[in-house]
Amino acid sequence: MGSKVYFIKASVDDGEQVLSKKAVRVFKAGGFAECFKENDFTAVKVHVGEDGNNTYITASCIKGLVDRLLALKTRPFVTDTSTLYVGRRHNAIDHAILAAEHGFSLRGLGIPFIPADGLLGTSETAVQINGELDKEVFIAYDIVRCQSILSVAHFTGHPATCAAGTLKTLGMGCASKKGKLKQHAALKLNISDDCTRCGVCFEHCPADAITLDDVKANIDQDKCIGCAECMAMCRFGAVECNWGQEDEVLQKSIAEHALGALKGKENRAAFFNFIMSVTEGCDCFNEADMTKIVDDIGIAASRDPVAVDKAALDLVESKGGRKLAELLENDKLDPRYQIEHAERIGLGIANYELIEIK
Ligand code: SF4
Ligand code: SF4
Repeated sequence: MGSKVYFIKASVDDGEQVLSKKAVRVFKAGGFAECFKENDFTAVKVHVGEDGNNTYITASCIKGLVDRLLALKTRPFVTDTSTLYVGRRHNAIDHAILAAEHGFSLRGLGIPFIPADGLLGTSETAVQINGELDKEVFIAYDIVRCQSILSVAHFTGHPATCAAGTLKTLGMGCASKKGKLKQHAALKLNISDDCTRCGVCFEHCPADAITLDDVKANIDQDKCIGCAECMAMCRFGAVECNWGQEDEVLQKSIAEHALGALKGKENRAAFFNFIMSVTEGCDCFNEADMTKIVDDIGIAASRDPVAVDKAALDLVESKGGRKLAELLENDKLDPRYQIEHAERIGLGIANYELIEIK
């Protein structure tokens, strides 16, 4: 017997208000109110959209879900964590301003936006897990501290993980900067010519991996322990990652960080995948009007983060008539790494029963 995944057909053409109502119908049909208790601090994990992106799931689409939590008398806050790459979600202040511009605010939703990993993305808790890659993962402090989670993911393609849905929202999206860097184990940090030689990273590096020459700071890759402190502290955006194609280790590490994010919240979390505006890249791309790789499909939700991603993947591949990697025209990618690994480490089960709400 599989995990129950509740599903309703939906499209961005429905409009935000109808999408919000459809999400609430899924919430009610799935009995997700049981996951939340009065006075819970409830994290509503979202992606507020990168500056310039217009295919993210808008605040208005989740307004009905937030209202359900308020009616249940939880203390919900809308949240996300800061990015490794330099942009408007790199620190809490710029992130909160962007969130407010996109309606994720007290004014827009009736609840505040509180970045879960603090001012610089270094507010974290080391969570012990029984993973295969790691026994300890680094999760945003307020994700660990809250009592329940309503995860709202936009299920899309992704150039490194193939699929970006609930598992990625939980694993990458709930990790501190150090946790993110740990997931991107193949990444190396470098310091660009934007360096002003201010010396702040040099002072904060716990591994003495940074030296200052006459022109700029430099990182000794043999000494670097990947703590991301330099990246968090640099105010000039000079610490860069060598982004590139990554392998299955990234997806497995995402699954293990998702396990850490949910530790202690078994039966206290609900996972929504909005399967619409499914594009080649995720909401971190600062591009407008990215091309859809399939027509809009709907909203799927479950108490099982593995089942809800497997269901979304199957729905996308069924709609597109091809494997997701083929839709992305990159046969080196395979989204099943994250799903199979998540199942193996006990995060959920990939087998599911799809219950369609008419
Ligand atoms: S903190 Fe940034 S600008 Fe300052 S020395 Fe380090 S890399 Fe250069
Ligand atoms: S990531 Fe950490 S250890 Fe590596 S150079 Fe930056 S501050 Fe030093």
